[in-house]
Amino acid sequence: MQLGLLIAGIFIAGLLWALFIRMEGQEPIANIILPGNSLGLSQNLNISITDNQSGIKRIWFGILQGGREVILKQKRFPADGFIKGGKGGGKLKTASLEILFEPKTIGITDGEAILRLAVWDYSWRNWAKGNHTYLEKKIMIDTSPPKPEVISKIHNINQGGSGLVIYRLSENCRKSGVVAGDNFFPGHSGLFKDPKIFTAFFALSYKQGPGTQLFVKAVDMAGNTGKKNFSYHINKRVFKKDIIKISDRFLNWKMPEFDTSQDQSQSDNIIDKFLKINNEIRRKNTIKIFQIALVTENKKYWQKKFLRLPKSANRAGFADARAYAYKGKIIDNQVHMGIDLASTAHSRVPAANPGKIVFINELGIYGKTIIIDHGFGLFSMYSHLSKFFVKSNQVVKRREIIGETGRTGLAGGDHLHFGMLIHNTFVNPIEWWDKKWIQNNIIIKINNAQAEIK
Ligand SMILES: [Zn+2]
Repeated sequence: MQLGLLIAGIFIAGLLWALFIRMEGQEPIANIILPGNSLGLSQNLNISITDNQSGIKRIWFGILQGGREVILKQKRFPADGFIKGGKGGGKLKTASLEILFEPKTIGITDGEAILRLAVWDYSWRNWAKGNHTYLEKKIMIDTSPPKPEVISKIHNINQGGSGLVIYRLSENCRKSGVVAGDNFFPGHSGLFKDPKIFTAFFALSYKQGPGTQLFVKAVDMAGNTGKKNFSYHINKRVFKKDIIKISDRFLNWKMPEFDTSQDQSQSDNIIDKFLKINNEIRRKNTIKIFQIALVTENKKYWQKKFLRLPKSANRAGFADARAYAYKGKIIDNQVHMGIDLASTAHSRVPAANPGKIVFINELGIYGKTIIIDHGFGLFSMYSHLSKFFVKSNQVVKRREIIGETGRTGLAGGDHLHFGMLIHNTFVNPIEWWDKKWIQNNIIIKINNAQAEIK
């Protein structure tokens, strides 16, 4: 009698287990993750599946276009069998699959298509077929690359100098711009009424001379890449060499300014300190400047040439190769990425052209620094200042006084370090101070493009 009860109890427990555990009704969760709604020549499609109760049994993934279906992936997942000591159900609760999708190789053509995904779990529901999830995603197949058309004609660029390319895009693009050797300068719409016309200010670094490859590159929404060459001429430039003498007086005066209480790794040796500042801190400061210049406004704030600090003398040039000498020995080498201008101490510093103040703060070796965004990736930078007269995000006029010169940072005497950069590259400011250069290389191009578009 008691045995009968026990058997009945086990039977009921088994029945309940089968009913609630093995016959659970929870559907698997599935997702198709795409790089975008448009798919190009070649890309990976990702599928993620989760079934927390019974585990994943199988998937079916296909693409449907014009009544024709192609299977992209079918897979059966292992069971966690009782015989091998498992708990029943599926071995895997979650899985992700990456599938290389190249439409042309499987006869899928440009146009609309539907991705279809079906997933089953190891539940005993539906006569042991399992719970079932189905989803579709409408996509656009586009395997033809964008074809940028270059509108601007003559491109003469100096090593360490600036350039401008104006181009038209035939379709919406994820990104486009000018490739200059191993660098890329994004183009922006907004200068012309037609949103398909892009302006890319670009630069050659002081290291990039003749032989640097330049072309326009565009990547469309489906990831297809198009390139377009344009005619250009690169003029070689040779930059000066300079020796900076480092005195004990300079070191004893400047090095304590760079001491920070948090930094315990500081050496007591004053030369080591100088080398750390002139290398590590310089590098960090440069990274910071380039980060700031990644964000720019699609607005050309300026019209005229850039202003040079009035009544000042050039003390050091752009891309000067500097050797640092201490007691007759060269202890370091760096490249000077701006022009040093000296006037009387605490000279008033005008904004070189209209723009927005995007940085105003201490900046390591550069001391008190202001960076102005002039739009479309063009920036001017003012360093070693003693005073600020403007605020962050303020829009300034040409000639508006933004600060006073000084000797903050790693400056030995009162001067202005004036830098200019395009996107992530310091350029020679001399070009931007030159009315004729601006007229021939920037203004004419914009006017000619404007005339051609009409
Ligand atoms: Zn300088």
